[in-house]
Amino acid sequence: MPDLSSWLASRLAEVDQAQLRRRLRVVDSPQLTTVRQHGRELANFSSNDYLGLASDDRLREAALVAIDEWGVGSGASRLISGTQRPHEQLEHAIADFKSVEAALVFANGFAAAIGTIPAIVGKGDVIILDKLSHACLVDGARMSGATLRVFPHNRLQRLEDHLRWARKTHPLANILVITESVFSMDGDRAPLREIVELKERYGAWLLLDEAHAMGVIGAQGRGLAWECGVADRVELQMGTLGKALGASGGYIAGSCCLIDWLINRARAFIFSTAPPAAIAAAATAAIEIVRSEAGERLRDRLWANIRNCSAEAESAIIPVLIGDAGEAVAASERLLDAGFWVPAVRFPTVPKGGARLRISLSAAHTDEQINHLKNEVFREL
Ligand SMILES: *Cc1c(COP(=O)(O)O)cnc(C)c1O
Repeated sequence: MPDLSSWLASRLAEVDQAQLRRRLRVVDSPQLTTVRQHGRELANFSSNDYLGLASDDRLREAALVAIDEWGVGSGASRLISGTQRPHEQLEHAIADFKSVEAALVFANGFAAAIGTIPAIVGKGDVIILDKLSHACLVDGARMSGATLRVFPHNRLQRLEDHLRWARKTHPLANILVITESVFSMDGDRAPLREIVELKERYGAWLLLDEAHAMGVIGAQGRGLAWECGVADRVELQMGTLGKALGASGGYIAGSCCLIDWLINRARAFIFSTAPPAAIAAAATAAIEIVRSEAGERLRDRLWANIRNCSAEAESAIIPVLIGDAGEAVAASERLLDAGFWVPAVRFPTVPKGGARLRISLSAAHTDEQINHLKNEVFREL
């Protein structure tokens, strides 16, 4: 057996060979629409901070006030050392925002997924998920031990085939359909009304991940389920507080029974130290902004930026398909040289041969930044 480091060095060499090596880039500034990297200012098109709230003064202030009152660390998991008031306030704010009975906050969206899915379904049950579902949904589904079926992205006929199969071969099973509102690497939306109709026809439940829709889509930024008028028919509404909300954390929103069950069964909640109260306070401040007139103006501004970039875009994520991983990385490097940070996304985040540039837009981008970006990206194509 080789020693670990030399074994890993040869594995890394293979990753390099395939043009799939990932490296961290150090940034010396907050997530604004320009960031400083190695002393250079770059126009930032990499962040999911869609409304420009990640370094907003109101969120900073809420966090600072909470640090003064609560300190930094939370001590233990909430079941052990108690729920600090800001977490409870945040959960009320989420439930109210989503017009559901209750919500539960996790350390992040990833933890919400891997905590919730195995708590709801298990061996003998069936999960049917969209092929492009986020890694945390896939991992949660695998961890559950349920039988997995994957349908091609947004293909309703194939989803229905799986539902029919599941009902026939597993008559007593619970069936959970999993999809996203806005797909994180393609920026397109799920045909949600039709999916809700289908899951109801076959007596299945639906987990909808609103990570990229929360704050961006629907009245007050309530998400796609709200926009489609089916929010009260989606049993598990999931999302993150780390994207448009500019803070950090993940949530599940739904019925009181669902939340009480998760408090008792979601391992990523039970066995993990509660996030700092200051983060919860910042997220609560973000929800207030997102729901307000000021939030509406930010969304108008974001959608104007999206329209300026692309007539067909369905969200703030605009993929520019390149195909080859090495070429996508080279294109991203050339954009860096020109002063734009637009990440290249490669396998396994997207399928092999599907490498792309991923442009994320923010309400805070100026027309000038976007017009410059368009010129540079078109030059790449
Ligand atoms: C980012 C993301 C998550 C994970 O949320 P975090 O709070 O970043 O852990 C989950 N689902 C989707 C679709 C995402 O894009």
